[in-house]
Amino acid sequence: MDIFNTLANSIRPTIVTKTKKKPVFYQAVLKKVEGNVYDLVYPHLQDKEQVTHKERLGDENACCSECGNNEWMLLANESIAVKQGGKPYIECLTCGLQTHL
Ligand SMILES: [Zn+2]
Repeated sequence: MDIFNTLANSIRPTIVTKTKKKPVFYQAVLKKVEGNVYDLVYPHLQDKEQVTHKERLGDENACCSECGNNEWMLLANESIAVKQGGKPYIECLTCGLQTHL
């Protein structure tokens, strides 16, 4: 995309039709995954050729490529990333990087 189209899109007003529904809020509560997280998200690969951190995250200790830490939150199936990506998505609890497993 060229720079002029990018600029035109950025200044074009977005028309949003606001819903009249009552607002709904959900509270997410973290629960530690015991065992192999890949067995949870890819149960069909359990005891077969289950994937590894090295394959999915490029690091055998599941370290984040942005910040180097390795605590992750699985995003809810209802999140837009999971719905649009069609895969299990995770978010780094240190820097917020999102990626899929
Ligand atoms: Zn990170």
